[in-house]
Amino acid sequence: DDSRTLQMEVTRFGQDEALVIVRDITRLHNLEQMRRDFVANVSHELRTPLTVIAGYLETLQESGQAPRNWERPLGQMSEQTVRMTSLVNDLLLLARLETSERDSGRDRIAVHGLMERVADEARSLSGGRHQISVVCDEDSTITGDAGELHSAFANLAFNAVKYSPDGGPIELRWRIDASGGHFAVKDSGIGIDPLHIPRLTERFYRVDAGRSRESGGTGLGLAIVKHVLLRHSANLSISSVPGRGSTFTLNFPSQKLTQTSSATT
Ligand code: ADP
Repeated sequence: DDSRTLQMEVTRFGQDEALVIVRDITRLHNLEQMRRDFVANVSHELRTPLTVIAGYLETLQESGQAPRNWERPLGQMSEQTVRMTSLVNDLLLLARLETSERDSGRDRIAVHGLMERVADEARSLSGGRHQISVVCDEDSTITGDAGELHSAFANLAFNAVKYSPDGGPIELRWRIDASGGHFAVKDSGIGIDPLHIPRLTERFYRVDAGRSRESGGTGLGLAIVKHVLLRHSANLSISSVPGRGSTFTLNFPSQKLTQTSSATT
């Protein structure tokens, strides 16, 4: 295959003059593709051995035959296996999302239903420590990929739980205005220093790696959110006050939405 990838840059000078720079970025493009394929392959290959390890660990723990002083190490081994499994799954998902930034999916997803489902999942993660509410101003459907949208909504809701260690209210809200539909997750947790906000969607970027790890984070959640949004012509906005809490908002353009019915709370 000898197709080339070109990048063009145009700088205008007044009315009828322009500087055009054309770069051949085929090599760069191919390298990037190789990196993605490599990550996807490695993640995929790691799944089977992980499943086997997790399976035997569980059998061993449930058999009651492990020596007494092995309980703790075995517990830690399963915990780490769970962590590694979610890391591998997130890497695989991210690699898949990155291969195409084009619009994905023709599913019609009912927003209110999705919010209730995500709220229930967040409640189970919270274990009753947070008051989690759903406010749906006007129900709508989003055109896109059901699985991808679920992971974007869920990532924000789970982060709200993870980064509100003292409990507190969390609100999931959907509202519509002239610019489109907005899904906002508002918490009253630890907040984020404005300094970090522009970098949060980078892979493995964490404000506090220790805290993230403790709460089971992989550092890939917001990178996944960003790529899901790119594929739905949507974007993310973040506002936060350190020590007071954060609001993460997914903004969908009107052309991705169909309004279905009036207010449901
Ligand atoms: P992680 O798996 O570490 O949670 P994410 O990509 O989901 O990875 O988030 C990246 C970082 O952004 C987190 O490590 C955390 O520092 C910060 N963060 C995300 N959501 C929140 C939130 N609701 N409140 C405070 N900090 C947050």
